Amino acid sequence: MPAILTFIDLKEAVSSGEIDTVLTCFVDMQGRLMGKRFHGVNFVEISFEETHCCNYLLATDLEMATPDGYAASSWERGYGDYVMKPDLTTIRRVPWLENTAMVLCDILDHHNHLPISHSPRAILKKQIVRLKDLGFEAKMATELEFFLFEKSFDNIRKDGFQNLEPISGYNEDYHIFQTTKEEGVMRPIRNHLYAAGLPIENSKGEAEAGQEELNIRYSNALACADHHSIAKHAIKEIAWQNGWAATFLPKWHHDRVGSSSHVHQSLWKDGEPVFYDPAAKHGKSNLMDHYMAGLIKYAPDYTYFLAPYINSYKRFAKGTFAPTKTAWSVDNRTAGFRLCGENTKGVRVECRVGGSDLNPYLAQAAMLAAGIKGIEDMMDLPPATTGDVYQDAKAADIPQTLRAATGTLRNSQFLREALGDDVVDHYTRAAEWEQEEFDRVVTDWEISRGFERA
Ligand code: ADP
Repeated sequence: MPAILTFIDLKEAVSSGEIDTVLTCFVDMQGRLMGKRFHGVNFVEISFEETHCCNYLLATDLEMATPDGYAASSWERGYGDYVMKPDLTTIRRVPWLENTAMVLCDILDHHNHLPISHSPRAILKKQIVRLKDLGFEAKMATELEFFLFEKSFDNIRKDGFQNLEPISGYNEDYHIFQTTKEEGVMRPIRNHLYAAGLPIENSKGEAEAGQEELNIRYSNALACADHHSIAKHAIKEIAWQNGWAATFLPKWHHDRVGSSSHVHQSLWKDGEPVFYDPAAKHGKSNLMDHYMAGLIKYAPDYTYFLAPYINSYKRFAKGTFAPTKTAWSVDNRTAGFRLCGENTKGVRVECRVGGSDLNPYLAQAAMLAAGIKGIEDMMDLPPATTGDVYQDAKAADIPQTLRAATGTLRNSQFLREALGDDVVDHYTRAAEWEQEEFDRVVTDWEISRGFERA
């Protein structure tokens, strides 16, 4: 696989004219790439050290509003700058754009250059360090599900998001013929991302008309989140280049299956998988039991980080492969947590709760924190559930609305200890704002239901 570029490689590519543009990006609260397009010469001579951005970018919403109620940035505090510090280990080519490279940045305080605690990359890095202090490294993989539409975003917007027709006319789960029709977009996605240094495994049709999945090989947690963010961005951009639209909205229609982002997780020590114990049932070690017990117990606390918007909760519906319960099960897709690769070195837990709209840094950080808590407290894993877990009255529910998940986040003592009060307060405010914005809007559904008949 082509390695990502060293800084020296980049300098040479800039001086030969092979690269003239460096996308200097960070990941915002919504998991999007934000930043600037540098001329290559300026980047390698000056801006590789640092550049700056307005601090509202980590206190905003999908529409770039400036909500009140954030301690970190506000009109009162004058919306100053953050430092964007390029992480030079993340330089890579962007093969789907001409003569372009990309680097990801950490967000630092403008004055003391310390990490900004509520920036997604810093939140994940903190949990990685906590795990390292326990002697472990996490390997993670996030699956990316999305829908393709034959029209561009701009045309869809001009049409008022009406009459949306996905790319295929039928459920294309594992279909080769239907996905052949989509290769004009999917093949460049796989190949360009691979050439950008992402260990792409495969793409496949998913279980709904027009639904796709991209799988990326597992990596350490930070690389996994970086890969996810870059891949999501590339999918939208490459679809756009072809006049199509790719949406990661978890539920674009109530009658259609939603899009998920399942997260596979395992812990390693000295290059060996410590979730594996060949002598134990399912080949699952005691350590894995503790980790999974933490994941399950605290799932309601961190559901917000897996489902951050109003729409995210429309996905949690019985009989759709999106879970409603926090139970675990062996190779059973109706539970929130699925044991995969049992009795092999690849034994791992897949969290099926998250939607395609999750921010991978926040999701992975919250789950690592829950797993760490399970290990620290040597928590017991409840027995596996079997059969149709949707019907299991004993299993705990995942919060069913953003309002409920905001409450469990706000009151989570465990998350406050693991992530910090400032971080929990910051994201609680983001969740409240999302709810406030929704609550003040009159929806199409209410009008058509009640305009005449109320
Ligand atoms: P499926 O056949 O269910 O799609 P895969 O074997 O393709 O499952 O694996 C799904 C994801 O799990 C892939 O992205 C893969 O890289 C990841 N994965 C495999 N082994 C591990 C592991 N030990 N830890 C974390 N993720 C893993």
